[in-house]
Amino acid sequence: MTQYVIIGDGISGSSAAETLREEDPDAKITVITDEGEPLYNRILIKEHAKGKLPEAPISIHDEDWYEDRDIDLSLNTHVTSVDTEGKVVHTHDSGEIPYDKLLVATGGTPTQLPVENSDADGIHHFWTFEDARGIRNHADEADRGVIVGAGLLGIDFAAVCGAQGIEADYLMRGDRWWRYALSAEGAEIMHEGMRDVGVEPVFDSGVDRFEVDDDGRVTAAVDPNGDRYECDFAGVAIGLSFNTEFLRGAGIEQDNGIVVDEYMQTNVDDVYAAGDLTQFHDVLLGEQAQNGSWGSAKEQGRVAAINMAADAEEEGFQWVSSYSITHFDFPFLSFGHPTRGDEHAERKYSDTEWRRIAFKDGKIVGGVLIGDLSPQSKFKQLMREQRVVADQAEVLLEQSVDLDELAPTQEQ
Ligand SMILES: Cc1cc2nc3c(=O)[nH]c(=O)nc-3n(C[C@H](O)[C@H](O)[C@H](O)COP(=O)(O)OP(=O)(O)OC[C@H]3O[C@@H](n4cnc5c(N)ncnc54)[C@H](O)[C@@H]3O)c2cc1C
Repeated sequence: MTQYVIIGDGISGSSAAETLREEDPDAKITVITDEGEPLYNRILIKEHAKGKLPEAPISIHDEDWYEDRDIDLSLNTHVTSVDTEGKVVHTHDSGEIPYDKLLVATGGTPTQLPVENSDADGIHHFWTFEDARGIRNHADEADRGVIVGAGLLGIDFAAVCGAQGIEADYLMRGDRWWRYALSAEGAEIMHEGMRDVGVEPVFDSGVDRFEVDDDGRVTAAVDPNGDRYECDFAGVAIGLSFNTEFLRGAGIEQDNGIVVDEYMQTNVDDVYAAGDLTQFHDVLLGEQAQNGSWGSAKEQGRVAAINMAADAEEEGFQWVSSYSITHFDFPFLSFGHPTRGDEHAERKYSDTEWRRIAFKDGKIVGGVLIGDLSPQSKFKQLMREQRVVADQAEVLLEQSVDLDELAPTQEQ
């Protein structure tokens, strides 16, 4: 009987466990997580922090779900090391769990700002349900906020402040939100969305240090220009540090994440990785890539499990990810790798409608849609087909995209 061990019960680990059970009914499957609760919807915890959703709808699996599938679930168990020669996982409570095949699905932990007082009371990071509970409780009573991190997670803090009536300054480096994927014109729509909920974007800023009171509670952020922003609530979302310390000495190749091939295999026999922490070979992009999104993590877990159970390179990971934001009066969607293009086409259609497509070697590799998300499936189709279409940007920027208008000669 094959013994599978999965470290991490986020969406990638959990989806792998489910697939392994389907593929290998007799196997022994163990899932280890250092969180105190089984899989929940990490995307929805922001709604909880906003004060909108109660706890129950956020949970995805209860413990019975694992029992019903004969999957051993170890909650509150931190993996401290892996012996890839002896094929054993070691846990904080001296547990030793042998494996035939191992999946590392441990995601990341929010990075703390490397500045004075960055761990003061009232400064929040956002990754777990516990974080969301803490943010919700504090946001209820806070008046002034500061947000740091001009990306997809930072904007969740802006939404929490907006929903909880906290007036906030959003301190950004550079001249706009998510400057790697948006032009000034697109970003301005997002800035207006923030202002509408009471969050003021502040550009060419950031945090040099936090000030605290005698009780160690945050009272202000001081930016590199010396400007001081009073706050009793701060949200920091400047990126993730991947949870791989326990792999020290295990011989697994890492490069800001765990390097895997399209089958989710690491360089070490019988060790696979899936989810946010992988540097995977993106077959559509033709390069190593990384992706921090729910759908991608779920699919990577599934694909890893298929290959683990088959003991072969049965199925490659091929996926166009997307990430949507619904905090404002208009929807926002990023798809693929919008920051990886070498050429771009964009258009503004109205005060709340804008589109940008990123091309690499003439093929779409990603983009951002604001206001009207309807072209997403067509753009994703072109990505999957790997069609060279950059020279037909006019067709792609039509308000209503008609793929039949693309010249057939451009197909590869
Ligand atoms: C607030 C928020 C909003 C988001 N919104 C969106 C969105 O709108 N759309 C979208 O697509 N994505 C969104 N995401 C991102 C998405 O949730 C992640 O991409 C996805 O959850 C990653 O899943 P994962 O399984 O790779 O890792 P995780 O979900 O991070 O799971 C890893 C698990 O491993 C555990 N672990 C780590 N180290 C160890 C160890 N040593 N021993 C045992 N267990 C360990 C962790 O505690 C964790 O439970 C959001 C994320 C957050 C935090």
